[in-house]
Amino acid sequence: MRIGHGYDVHRLTAGRKLVLCGVEIPYTLGLDGHSDADVALHALMDALLGAAALGDIGKLFPDSDPKYKGISSLLLLEQVLQAIRAENLRVGNADLTIIAQKPKLAPFIPQMVKTLADALGIPENRVNVKATTEEHLGFSGREEGIAAHAVCLLEE
Ligand code: MG
Repeated sequence: MRIGHGYDVHRLTAGRKLVLCGVEIPYTLGLDGHSDADVALHALMDALLGAAALGDIGKLFPDSDPKYKGISSLLLLEQVLQAIRAENLRVGNADLTIIAQKPKLAPFIPQMVKTLADALGIPENRVNVKATTEEHLGFSGREEGIAAHAVCLLEE
């Protein structure tokens, strides 16, 4: 078995959609970035690549490349999964933590879990998504950005 960890942060800004774990969340602000800036999927992809010792998403999908502009991170995840399968690895489970002061994410967690399970090709009972605030502390607490951590297990 191989364990991977990923972490990412994106800045909150006006005029962008907020997409987390492939789910569009209705909110006045969205995350800024080259792709759809799905910070949770970015952390998950880095965890998967980390477990497979395949580097990171910055190496695979450089933000200098115009073909990734505005792209859904679910499409990037599909490419990451192909790279993992090419190494004869499969996903055992994934656990994500999204750190956001606002908006309230609890109502969207079941949809996020379903989206991730479908994308990863594993049952929903092998996927976990948590959301937490940082008690108004730091950049997430000041609502300047959203962070995400992910850990995953890959099996040979
Ligand atoms: Mg990112």
